Amino acid sequence: MLRFDHVTKQFGAHKAIDDVSFTVEPGLITAVIGPNGAGKSTLVNMAAGSYSVTSGRILVNEVELQTLPKHRIAHAGLSRTYQNIRLFDGMSVLQNLEVVLVPPRIGTLVASTFGLTGRRAEGERRERCMAVLERLGLAPFADRLAGSLAYGQQKLVELARAIVNEPRVLLLDEPAAGLNHGETERLKHYILDVRTPDMAMVLIEHDMKLIMSISDRIIVMNRGTVLAQGTGAEIRANTAVQEAYLGQ
Ligand code: ADP
Ligand code: MG
Repeated sequence: MLRFDHVTKQFGAHKAIDDVSFTVEPGLITAVIGPNGAGKSTLVNMAAGSYSVTSGRILVNEVELQTLPKHRIAHAGLSRTYQNIRLFDGMSVLQNLEVVLVPPRIGTLVASTFGLTGRRAEGERRERCMAVLERLGLAPFADRLAGSLAYGQQKLVELARAIVNEPRVLLLDEPAAGLNHGETERLKHYILDVRTPDMAMVLIEHDMKLIMSISDRIIVMNRGTVLAQGTGAEIRANTAVQEAYLGQ
């Protein structure tokens, strides 16, 4: 599970996140919504180690993420996608997954101790990545350059790359942004498909139809604070939310 505990983020004089606390439970899809500039991406960036935390703590299963260097955060089981696609355009789709693959810790030890590198380890890595591509309908594009894919497919590759390490916490920053209706439906299917009982998923989105149809809980951010949280029905009925966001 993922927990924000009295987290504040200051950019110069501007408080982008102001004393935010909430918990994201495994097995559930928790949506984080709110107007542009509310602080949604900043929460993801802090959890993933891209931004420092001004004060407070972010914990995954009681491990404090700010105590870890950025590359160790994937080992701790946290993975994210970016609001703006960040694939390696000049690499194949398959390679985009292979470069982020974290070897299982035992595997690394065995590999380095017994020299089990080379072709066999490489074959296993490839199989693992191909299995994820197949699951998201991307196998036919495995050898294509990521930059040559259509936008909607690139968004799916971002999702594939984020789940290849079987994260315990998955943060999706606007995965449906820029997708058409059919692509959004496909994304919804895949999001529901990759969810597991022990994975905590955070979905940042503007598409209210998508949010209401797949979220178990919704957290509403406004100006760096949590304005409300609850089920879809509770959020829809909340007058403060209607004023700040839905009624816009
Ligand atoms: P959201 O994702 O909800 O649209 P963001 O988290 O991107 O909002 O931004 C929240 C606030 O923090 C905004 O006022 C934004 O300008 C500011 N902000 C985000 N990142 C930076 C940064 N790297 N430097 C300065 N200000 C930032
Ligand atoms: Mg954002």
